[in-house]
Amino acid sequence: MTSSDTPTHHPITLLVGGQECLDRECEEYATEDGGNDPGVERCSHIREEIVCAQCSTMTREGYWENTVPWTGPHATTGGVQR
Ligand SMILES: [Zn+2]
Ligand SMILES: [Zn+2]
Repeated sequence: MTSSDTPTHHPITLLVGGQECLDRECEEYATEDGGNDPGVERCSHIREEIVCAQCSTMTREGYWENTVPWTGPHATTGGVQR
């Protein structure tokens, strides 16, 4: 029996930063002539955060809230014991 919709705990990477940084509107994306530099993938204000996709909740607008870090019991649930 396959149950692909069974909730499972797994890590996902969120990008956390100011709204203007996420919108590519902060100064680090700007070129000298005022354009948007496509060579800048991500500004230095944005950091990555590993959270549990199952325990964290996403709002209807697509924003994450009540994020649960992928640490402690999560990281060992179903993991390989060493
Ligand atoms: Zn920025
Ligand atoms: Zn979880």
